[in-house]
Amino acid sequence: MAVTPRQTADSTALLRRLDSKVGSLKSEMVEFTKKLVKIRTENPPGKNYGELVSAIKKLADASGFETKIYGKSGKPNLVITWNVGSKHTLHINGHYDVVPAVGAWKHAPFEPVIEDGKLFGRGAADSKSNICAVIYAAKAMKELGMKPACNLELSFTCDEESGGVDGLGYLVAEKLVKPDFAIVADGPVRGINNAHKGVLALKITVVGKSAHAAWPQRGVNAFLGAGKLAIELNGLNTKLGKVKSRCDTSEEVEKSPTIVPGGRAEGGVKFNSVPGEFSFTIDRRIIPEEKISDAKDELLAAINAFSRKNPEYGVIIETILEAKPSFADKNCKISKALSRSIKSVKGEAPNYYLLPGFLDMRYLVNEAKIDCVNYGTAGGNEHGVDEFVYADSILDLVKIFVLTAMDKELEA
Ligand SMILES: [Zn+2]
Repeated sequence: MAVTPRQTADSTALLRRLDSKVGSLKSEMVEFTKKLVKIRTENPPGKNYGELVSAIKKLADASGFETKIYGKSGKPNLVITWNVGSKHTLHINGHYDVVPAVGAWKHAPFEPVIEDGKLFGRGAADSKSNICAVIYAAKAMKELGMKPACNLELSFTCDEESGGVDGLGYLVAEKLVKPDFAIVADGPVRGINNAHKGVLALKITVVGKSAHAAWPQRGVNAFLGAGKLAIELNGLNTKLGKVKSRCDTSEEVEKSPTIVPGGRAEGGVKFNSVPGEFSFTIDRRIIPEEKISDAKDELLAAINAFSRKNPEYGVIIETILEAKPSFADKNCKISKALSRSIKSVKGEAPNYYLLPGFLDMRYLVNEAKIDCVNYGTAGGNEHGVDEFVYADSILDLVKIFVLTAMDKELEA
């Protein structure tokens, strides 16, 4: 579609008003992000969820938005709606749980501080700054008297870090949200993630026979069997490395499915006994072109081959998690609107990526069957020590979300 000089002038004026509004809200937004970081929503165990949701609700209520809380006991999910009478609804989601903080941090992980433009704290980037940007985008629009091009539905959900079944998964399964297209605001990001890998996580227990270590010949060492099996399953990586997704990735190696054995491993009783049981986990990443069931069959075939060669061992397989990969066309409506907004704010169109991690985006793509992409603030060390978000990237994200929500193409 051709852009007329009139539209360009309009969007420049809009961006100028937005710049000054968002600039005036900066310290408030930084304080709000800090406030959210201070509420320790570590998952596991999944705590202080109610307090966190109340903090967002308070801000939404003060701005006059309609809010609802849905969820199982102890698992509140907040939904904010802004109905403008459009036939289309844009959904933007942020998750509020964080992974636990371990290790030696420069600053205490739940006492956020700003240093050189970086806001440090657990959840600063993943994903409390994103929550801040989503709610402040709506607030800024309202205060500027702007109206979104389509209805807005914002959700703030729990348990993303443990699979999201009771979070965004719940809202989608219970049909409590009804979007036509969506953005999952989860970060930090380098560009638009229009796809992410899925995961099949298994717990594999190798069963041998326990015995006193003084008479090892009386036992069957399950640790050695598990080691042998783990090495064989790891060997599948050679074949998987030749399988490539058609999606764009930051590194070539990220195009392939992968297997990581031993994320968790346990077994045996004591040094002076032959271990009778030993178990380890497998993390098998699934690219969007693959099916989880095929990946499972491939692993089972390898385990069966091991069992035939090593009949002294039994093998028990348990599924820990199955999360489907998801994919949205780069040219879908929401992706293009978001890309246009990023270009207006940052002066450069974003790159697209297949994210090797998995996101709650899959519920909207695979279950709600709508187009959804992932975008968020910029930062680093998520899930690690000294997690941070660039404070200015919160401002950029607010502007990007406002421009996206105002994009007339979404209404068409
Ligand atoms: Zn996240």
